[in-house]
Amino acid sequence: MIAQVQPLTTTRRLAGPFDYALPADPVGVGSIVRVPFGRQALDGVVVGLAGETDVPAEKLVTPTAVRADSVPGELVELALWMAEEYCSTPARALSLVLPPRGKPRTELWAIRTAAALDGQRLTARQRELLVSLPRAATGELGALRRLEARGLVAIAPRTRRRAPLTVPHEDRDVRLTGEQEAAVAAVGRGGAHLLHGVTGSGKTEVYLRAAAAALERGEGVIVLVPEIALTPQTVGRFQARFGDTVALLHSALGEGERYDEWRRLRTGEARIAVGPRSAVFAPVRDLGLIVIDEEHDPSYKHEGDPRYDARHVAAARVTAAARAEAGGEARHGRPDLERRTGAPDRPCTPALLAGSATPRPETWHALPRLTLSERVGSRPLPPVRILDMRGANHPLHPEARRALGEARKAILLLNRRGWSNFLTCRACGKVWECPQCDVALVLHRAEHAVACHHCGHRERVPGRCDGCGSPSVARYGAGTERLEAELAEALDVPVFRLDADTAAAKDAVPALLGRFAEAPSGLLVGTQMVAKGHDFPDVTLGVVVDADSTLRFPDFRAEERTFALIAQLAGRAGRGPRGGRVLVQTAAPDAPAIAAAALHDAPGFVAGELERRRALDYPPFADLIRIVCSSEEAAPPRAAAGEIAEAAAVAHGATVLGPAPLFRLRGRHRSQVVVKAHDRAAAVAAVRAAVDRAANRREHRDVAFSVDVDPQ
Ligand code: ADP
Ligand code: ZN
Ligand code: ZN
Repeated sequence: MIAQVQPLTTTRRLAGPFDYALPADPVGVGSIVRVPFGRQALDGVVVGLAGETDVPAEKLVTPTAVRADSVPGELVELALWMAEEYCSTPARALSLVLPPRGKPRTELWAIRTAAALDGQRLTARQRELLVSLPRAATGELGALRRLEARGLVAIAPRTRRRAPLTVPHEDRDVRLTGEQEAAVAAVGRGGAHLLHGVTGSGKTEVYLRAAAAALERGEGVIVLVPEIALTPQTVGRFQARFGDTVALLHSALGEGERYDEWRRLRTGEARIAVGPRSAVFAPVRDLGLIVIDEEHDPSYKHEGDPRYDARHVAAARVTAAARAEAGGEARHGRPDLERRTGAPDRPCTPALLAGSATPRPETWHALPRLTLSERVGSRPLPPVRILDMRGANHPLHPEARRALGEARKAILLLNRRGWSNFLTCRACGKVWECPQCDVALVLHRAEHAVACHHCGHRERVPGRCDGCGSPSVARYGAGTERLEAELAEALDVPVFRLDADTAAAKDAVPALLGRFAEAPSGLLVGTQMVAKGHDFPDVTLGVVVDADSTLRFPDFRAEERTFALIAQLAGRAGRGPRGGRVLVQTAAPDAPAIAAAALHDAPGFVAGELERRRALDYPPFADLIRIVCSSEEAAPPRAAAGEIAEAAAVAHGATVLGPAPLFRLRGRHRSQVVVKAHDRAAAVAAVRAAVDRAANRREHRDVAFSVDVDPQ
């Protein structure tokens, strides 16, 4: 037999797998082996076993080591599918599904044997020790070993879990509403579903019941959440209900914790994995359900290569599991568009449940919908008032100012951090820009710095213009830092700021949210982070400042993002018995996304948005593939992008947009091509071929290529 091994290198040039002889240790698909490769040694993943090879026997080498932990075969398949689907390489895709490095922590554990104590001569201390068993042997190892020698005690190593620290959450036993009942039943029949329910309508309770049903059938569950730090409540509720069978997989875990949680899933000791997008690769056994909480959240898209979308991968994984169960081959299809019904004798095919108060148009279009139409306890959604900011010259509308003065607890959203957006010289008009990127530098007053929000470049705040020498430097616009300072001055409640700057330190976010939750009064000011799933029942006011800022992005998702942001922020207000209201400041009061959000009208917004996308031929009516060519020189990326545009145009049913210049980023000039595809597989194949060809040409040797299928 031969092991087909995919070496884990980052280069695009190496197309494996390569054949190796079988080592002495047993290997199978998913085994991780150390292989000699040219003059070096590399780790590789066994992706197949074969009966024969073209490699002559004397040239066939043997792996030098086999790692104790392996990747489940199902995840090897998934990775190879991802490599194709996202125009990446098998090695890069496989690196996403590898077990974390580490090994179990063991301790010596002492137990009483069945040997009788009659006639044994024991000291009082020895009797005491025997009564205290079972226990860890550390500390008393010598004494225990002597008892072991007499056959009274057995000592053996056992693994000890390094459990992640979590916030416990109280669990409530509730009676499901009719709509919740129907949703849980539908999920139990398998297939993919969208759970649309306004904030506080009981979606999490549906996830919990659907998970319980899966466990009862002996199946495992994956629960994807946007960001653990911002959604501790969901995690806490799963742990409260299911205890140690929940494994937590997030990036802030220590190495040992991460390893133990992975292994508990791999061995089947834990049956539910909860985590952010990468938890879609959790080695859960007999997967029966994947839940995607807040499915509209942009964090589900991975921005490294492969640029996968956890929602799409989740659907593919569920589809493959269903096929495997049906006795077929585990192929991954265009999953979110496929629906299955179970065979009558085995009604439980794996299920996918994507939930949100503000679903993406794609999901709305693709999946059958389960609806929770009102908040639990019929608590009304807060009324939303739009404040027209055209012609205003202060960041806060007088009415918002008044409302903030009266509210005891409020949340204010401004999706822009820093003090002011840009600095200009009043005398000569110079704008301070990043030397690496073609964007304005943002003032961060507390740090006495101006900073680039794209590359992190920082410099000292200029005292005078370095162009004309004028000391008159103007600051334009307001960010969260400035609003925080102004409001702290104006209001007599404590002001808390939550944005990427205050969230940088480890555990800063839970600490800050905890302080705000416990404060009898206060204002939480921040970027989109304040609009995530928080549940503060005593917040009675929500304010959105510059609601159209996200609309100005040159991106077909600008509408969808704006709608979700406002509707989600509105969902944070009025969750308690005292009710609440929301004020939305905007210079575009008639924009459909803003008007619909003010009415909490997700169906209306999505219907209009789908119509617009159909007219413009955007997803879900076409697939997009974005190729970005970049280099330190201006001309090469333009030339490379031109070649790719021409080559991709031959793909069946594809329209090519560009090449178009993008702003310079991190010192690199960029040129972009977007392919609109109606035959996704053909377009991906054409783009892959075009990029491979261009990348291998000498004149493009300084150009870097990045391919993004389904860009966000
Ligand atoms: P969502 O996830 O849609 O925001 P949750 O599931 O968190 O909503 O529910 C909001 C609150 O209502 C929670 O405190 C939850 O315990 C409670 N809840 C959910 N379903 C019910 C029900 N059927 N009866 C009573 N309370 C419920
Ligand atoms: Zn000047
Ligand atoms: Zn920069």
